[in-house]
Amino acid sequence: LVVLENVNKHFGDLHVLRDIDLTVNSGEVVVVIGPSGSGKSTLCRTINRLETIDSGTITLDGQPLPAEGRGLAKLRSDVGMVFQSFNLFAHKTVLQNVTLGPLKVLRQSKSEAEARGMELLDRVRIGNQAHKYPAQLSGGQQQRVAIARALAMNPKVILFDEPTSALDPEMVQEVLDVMTDLASEGMTMVVVTHEMGFARRAANRVVFMADGQIVEENTPDEFFTSPRSERAKDFLSKIL
Ligand code: ATP
Ligand code: MG
Repeated sequence: LVVLENVNKHFGDLHVLRDIDLTVNSGEVVVVIGPSGSGKSTLCRTINRLETIDSGTITLDGQPLPAEGRGLAKLRSDVGMVFQSFNLFAHKTVLQNVTLGPLKVLRQSKSEAEARGMELLDRVRIGNQAHKYPAQLSGGQQQRVAIARALAMNPKVILFDEPTSALDPEMVQEVLDVMTDLASEGMTMVVVTHEMGFARRAANRVVFMADGQIVEENTPDEFFTSPRSERAKDFLSKIL
């Protein structure tokens, strides 16, 4: 579904992505882990063109990513993104946050967008909060709204960049549970996370990055029990 070939990206002198080759198949959950600064967020951001690349190719459904205009708007709805900071609109209700994209970009009718929005809020177990404002919700609830908002655009893939890192510990699990549900329903997901339990349970594949490179790509079982690279061994010894 998403194919990166020989992707390189620099920030000035810093070579942040080095010869990245990565394929994400439909229905697959790919967990990306690695030390801080290794390029995980940048990698995610190139997939919906929040960052441009210097060389290589990225395709979605076999098509190169569009650079501008309507194609770019379509790309941003096809490739959902959930960030560490939930980025909800503070002056809009939960339901309005979820329906805004479908109304404006997908041109759904208000009743259609609201019906689907309620369905999605129920799916992330927060339907009863639909008419509250983000500030009235806990962090875990806000992040579930952000997930519902991404789903409302009917994305082909959702990128999660450390979706639980900003949450109080007691709220991490409710967000991971929603993500685990999505994974088992067949949603294609790329997940940057330090939650190794989630990686073990939900990932089809683990991609380990260091210094802008994919150092190792492995099944979660293999990765956690017998990592092949020294970098991965060293990383795991520090976090597990
Ligand atoms: P973390 O685990 O801390 O989130 P990461 O693996 O997501 O790290 P990136 O955010 O992709 O890492 O950053 C990779 C490198 O690129 C870092 O050295 C970072 O400082 C640098 N970088 C990221 N964005 C920019 C930018 N807009 N301009 C310049 N340098 C950047
Ligand atoms: Mg990051």
